[in-house]
Amino acid sequence: MTPEEVEKLLESTGAIRRGHFQLSSGLHSPVYVQCALLFQHPGQTSRVADALAQWFDNTPVDVVAAPALGGIVLGYELARQLGARAVFVERNPEGRLALRRFRVNPGEHVLVAEDVLTTGGSTQETLDVVKQAGGNVVGIAAVLDRSGGQVKLGVPLRALLSQKLETYSPEQCPLCRQGQPIEKPGSRPVSAQE
Ligand SMILES: [Zn+2]
Repeated sequence: MTPEEVEKLLESTGAIRRGHFQLSSGLHSPVYVQCALLFQHPGQTSRVADALAQWFDNTPVDVVAAPALGGIVLGYELARQLGARAVFVERNPEGRLALRRFRVNPGEHVLVAEDVLTTGGSTQETLDVVKQAGGNVVGIAAVLDRSGGQVKLGVPLRALLSQKLETYSPEQCPLCRQGQPIEKPGSRPVSAQE
């Protein structure tokens, strides 16, 4: 899939929204990409996962690990195509990502699946959890890299679409200054932000 095709798919499924949003990283933005609206279509999700899986065709993958909730559907479909297990990490009561119901065994090759990467915060947290369990992270597969390639996490990162989308710190957000009401569409509790 070309980046243009991916962008079109996100537009046509309504996944790209415009307004005033607080991202899960805590940054504000006039654009929010809700990949769940793409993932509600299994056929399209399969196409997206297939394009990502091709990049990791020659990489051993035992487990695909995704941060909840955004990465779960993509991670599951990727794992199906790669013949791997699908697990997810989720927030514990302290607000940290953890493997609460799965195991990653020492030495297993783990591909991390993300829907959208902005600052790479939750992706980094997922990498840390996998490494702590003894897993060997072989790469990161994402639908969209909102940093436009600026985020570096020390393992191969492949995003179908890499685009620098406007973000602001809350103090410098022009939309806040205009008094536009803000939406917090992410799944992360506000108190647990990076
Ligand atoms: Zn704002």
